[in-house]
Amino acid sequence: MNTTYFTNGKNKAALAPKSVEQMPHSKAGLSFTDWRDARKKNHKWRNIRWAILVFMNLLFVLSFTFDLAVLEGSLSGSRLIGFYLMDPYNSLQLLAVSSRTGYITMLTMNFWIGLTTILLFWAVLGGRSYCSWMCPYHFISEWAEKLHLFLVKKKKISERSFNRGIRFVILIGFVLLAFLTKNLVFENLNVVGIVSKAMIYGPSLLLLWVLFIILVEVFLSRRFWCRYICPIGTTWSLVGHVSPLAVKFDLEKCGYCLECQKVCLVPHELWFVKRGTATQDEHYVGSDCTRCGLCIDVCPGKALSYSIKGASAVL
Ligand code: SF4
Ligand code: SF4
Repeated sequence: MNTTYFTNGKNKAALAPKSVEQMPHSKAGLSFTDWRDARKKNHKWRNIRWAILVFMNLLFVLSFTFDLAVLEGSLSGSRLIGFYLMDPYNSLQLLAVSSRTGYITMLTMNFWIGLTTILLFWAVLGGRSYCSWMCPYHFISEWAEKLHLFLVKKKKISERSFNRGIRFVILIGFVLLAFLTKNLVFENLNVVGIVSKAMIYGPSLLLLWVLFIILVEVFLSRRFWCRYICPIGTTWSLVGHVSPLAVKFDLEKCGYCLECQKVCLVPHELWFVKRGTATQDEHYVGSDCTRCGLCIDVCPGKALSYSIKGASAVL
């Protein structure tokens, strides 16, 4: 059985690294540093993404403020022009609660249609694309990350990382808690829902929790919530396994500069960019990738692109 599709080449032997003559900076007739730094200020995908993220979140606010009935509710559950959309992790907790209270059979057809629609939509677009293209907390934490990286660079703090497996324990743990307590316990800690609801309905004391998490991310660990805690992102990561849209890596154009890993929220997913680690001429970035495009923006060799798996670059 060919397992390459599932392992993305991790089970194969690494290809030989390129010689100096084969490196893209040599081919372009540039020094390595001139070549590497050429696209450092390129923010095309980040700006497009931020514009869409701000627009979608503003749509919630404007719909509520002016009673427009365009995009009602919040990111935990909403209606787009009257059509229900259900967040899958929130739905999982709802199912846990309603299975205890006996209301599970009373979940309406709108619930199931809303859940299926949103799952299909984000499955096609890459699962965790939701995080970087939609989530208002992601937007805030990108700024916190900048501050964190600045402090690390100035040696004011050191980077701390943790076992990423903890997010699966958290994902299952809060569903179990919902089942046991008959309450959506996680919703009181869900920074996505808290920020989304604060923007739409006005601030609440729960924002202090969000502030605490931001401080943890600035002073303790880069993107702590998104990397190790958020069960919403973990759910989308699972969905992303089946997504046809992914970031594609082209070994021939890569110059091993590692600029992509520096900007990436999940650098482990770019394992093949290090010299002598790629096992295939092409790799697809794994399901933890949020399709944020930061790596595409900075890559001097244009070795990374949005692609449909098995097809050539689409964007
Ligand atoms: S691999 Fe690229 S697109 Fe994916 S999360 Fe990292 S920087 Fe963003
Ligand atoms: S893929 Fe990464 S390591 Fe390779 S050239 Fe692009 S930024 Fe550098």
